[in-house]
Amino acid sequence: MAILLIAEHDNALLKSATLSTVTAATQIGGDIDLLVVGNGCAAAADAAAKVPGVRKVLLADNAVYDHEIAENVAALIKEIAADYSHILAPATTNGKNFMPRVAALLDVGQISEIMSVESADTFKRPIYAGNAIATVQSLDAVKVITVRGTSFDPAAIEGGSASVESLSQVTDTGLSRLVSEELAQSDRPELTTAKIIVSGGRGMGDKAHFEMLETLADKLGAAVGATRAAVDAGFVANDYQIGQTGKVVAPELYIGVGLSGAIQHLAGMKDSKVIVAINKDEDAPIFQVADYGLVADLFEAVPELEKSL
Ligand code: FAD
Repeated sequence: MAILLIAEHDNALLKSATLSTVTAATQIGGDIDLLVVGNGCAAAADAAAKVPGVRKVLLADNAVYDHEIAENVAALIKEIAADYSHILAPATTNGKNFMPRVAALLDVGQISEIMSVESADTFKRPIYAGNAIATVQSLDAVKVITVRGTSFDPAAIEGGSASVESLSQVTDTGLSRLVSEELAQSDRPELTTAKIIVSGGRGMGDKAHFEMLETLADKLGAAVGATRAAVDAGFVANDYQIGQTGKVVAPELYIGVGLSGAIQHLAGMKDSKVIVAINKDEDAPIFQVADYGLVADLFEAVPELEKSL
């Protein structure tokens, strides 16, 4: 067995989701090769070579892979897939973009967001917004799998000494190109890797009041998240959204303020270690998953909390 793992990186370093995917690959067993694809990403390949358990790093460093255009990345993976029994990528926005294309090009089914490895062909994954866990066995010759980062501990970043091999083939499908990109700038931790998250819902009322949570988060060194209702109401940008159609998080501490705990929101945060809820409605479903619940008006409780911090 040999596993091809597509690394998520920022051209210099590997993202934590990649390291969690390495752990999943290790549990499957077999040789693990990391593909680092991008434009100007040689440093990320060097970082990948240091991850223990990696046999070799394949580097595809070319302008056609700038911003990891999914069509080009998928075509490249298809070209090198023949040597592998498994193809793994983190279930991040990027992974969710190119992996279904890889599965389609290889004419196999994708196994999405695995949470555990039962054996080399059998995995557990959430269905119905995380309300049930399916055990899925794949009979496909090549298993195309995305991995839920929060379900696997990250692998170490030092200790390995894999070789780095540059790939000569360049696949430009010409199907799409990046026109522009607008990136939200923030000094706060990234949502999916933050240890503490302060999250707000529709109960925050408006954009100006939502800023209360940002101040609180800064005091706690936390990331800020939101429900879909808060995003749809324009309180915050949509990259804040946590849930079934947003990000999946599992911080040490999740503080949910003015959010009801709809199942689609719980799907993205119920694996948090400690959940604190502030809601004025004592029957709000969030209290069913909360370790600490405060029935209070958030406009009194949050300033009080901030003051004591
Ligand atoms: P509400 O349910 O309106 O809750 C607001 C809460 O604030 C209430 O419990 C209220 O008691 C409390 N409150 C109000 N004022 C105060 C106050 N002054 N002090 C204290 N508490 C107060 N939702 C997500 O979050 N993420 C997703 O990814 C997602 N994906 C979805 C996918 C699909 C296909 C569908 C159909 C829905 C999805 N949703 C998602 C939407 C989800 O169903 C809920 O509508 C949403 O999560 C509700 O957001 P909320 O809790 O902020 O709002």
